[in-house]
This record gives sequence, structure tokens and C-alpha cells, in this order.
Amino acid sequence: MNFEEKKRRLVEYLIRMGYLKSKNVIEAMLKVDRHLFVPEKYRDEAYEDKPLPIGYNQTISAPHMVAIMTELLNLEPEHKVLEVGTGSGYHACILACIAKYVITIERIPELARKAEENIKRACFSNKIKVIVRDGTLGYEEEAPYDRILVTAGAKDIPKPLLEQLKVGGRMVIPIGEKLSQYLFLIIKESEDKIKKISYGPCAFVPLIGKYGWKEDEI
Ligand code: SAM
Repeated sequence: MNFEEKKRRLVEYLIRMGYLKSKNVIEAMLKVDRHLFVPEKYRDEAYEDKPLPIGYNQTISAPHMVAIMTELLNLEPEHKVLEVGTGSGYHACILACIAKYVITIERIPELARKAEENIKRACFSNKIKVIVRDGTLGYEEEAPYDRILVTAGAKDIPKPLLEQLKVGGRMVIPIGEKLSQYLFLIIKESEDKIKKISYGPCAFVPLIGKYGWKEDEI
């Protein structure tokens, strides 16, 4: 079976399981080739519903988690999105299929460089900017954001991210312990009021930074 066929079967599975629902998210997952974002030796497993190693003790998230998080963001074509945790660059491309512009932040420079190459190969460079820094600080330079996606496990909501989210905006973020969290949808109802809804357990690598875990805690 070729990659295209494997990708189609994965998307059908995610629809059957109820993870994928919206036309725009389904189209995005059919468009972006996940095998371009994983190391050569894992290419054959790229369309299995599981996370895969991408080096530096980090992972590309499982497709069902990408689907769940993207559905919760409820993206619109005019949206400016901030992603914290570029990893391979795959999820940033899924976001860029739907939204206008994506800024994605990665703390490990080597991963950010590789993600930039992957994003270029997948032809999304014109809609995605990759920044190397501590993403718990957000990216004030282009704030506020319509949507914020955090793809590493936070201790709590980093204050700068909440400040950089528009009123009415949504943030999707795993919050909890170092290796096991709950996935939350945060809706910023006003400057000082948020709604926090849990969508069940998940397991992400830790969010490391000023408003996250400290390196010596890992
Ligand atoms: N979204 C990614 C993808 O599509 O491949 C998967 C992200 S991976 C599960 C989590 C990433 O978050 C890792 O690459 C890790 O280095 C990064 N990370 C952890 N703490 C961070 C921080 N404070 N700022 C930016 N990136 C961070």
C-alpha cells in the first residue's frame, strides 16, 4: 500500500472513531503528508495512529490527538494562530491548511531547523513562521492571537499565553503532571474571565520553560 492509500485509511479510521468531524480538519489531514515529518526509519509507521520519536527525546503527536486538538480549536480561515511546541512541524501545517497564518515556537534549535525544512518540503513556508525560544513566554511581537495551541504538557496555563489570547479566543492545552495530563479547552470570555473545559486524559512530553517545568525537574 502506498503512502496516499495509508493516509486515506488513517483518516477514515479517525472519522469512524469520532475524532475527526469537521470538513476543514478532514481535508487538512488528507492534505498533509505525515511521512514527510518523521525520521526516515519510521516512515512506514507514519500512518499508524501513534506518536513517533523525532529525536532529542521528543515526539510527533499521535494523529488522533492532532485531530482532537484541531477540532477543539474551531479554526476559521481568517485566524492568526500561535503554536507552542513545533516538534516536527506537522501540526503547524495542519493548522496552516485552515487558518490564515501560524507562528510556531520550539525551544530546541535543532528541532526548529528540521521542522523548517519539513514545512518547506510540504510547501507551507508562506503561511508558517518558526521561532526558537521559550514558548511559555508566547510571542508578544505578533500578539494577540485568535487561537493558541500548546503541544507539550504544562503545569498550568502560562500567564503570557493567556494575555496574548484575544477576548473570545480559544486555547487548547494539556495541563497536569510531567508525563500525564488532562487536555483542556480554554475560552477567554473577557480580560479577566476564562472558561476551562476538560476533554480527558492525555500524555505529552513536558512543557519546559519560565512558566512551565524547570529542566532540573525533568
Ligand atoms: N506539534 C508537534 C508536531 O507536530 O510534531 C509535536 C510537539 S512535541 C509533542 C512537543 C514539543 O514541545 C517538543 O518539540 C518540545 O521540544 C517542545 N517544547 C517543550 N517546551 C517548550 C517550550 N517552552 N517552548 C517551545 N517548545 C517547547
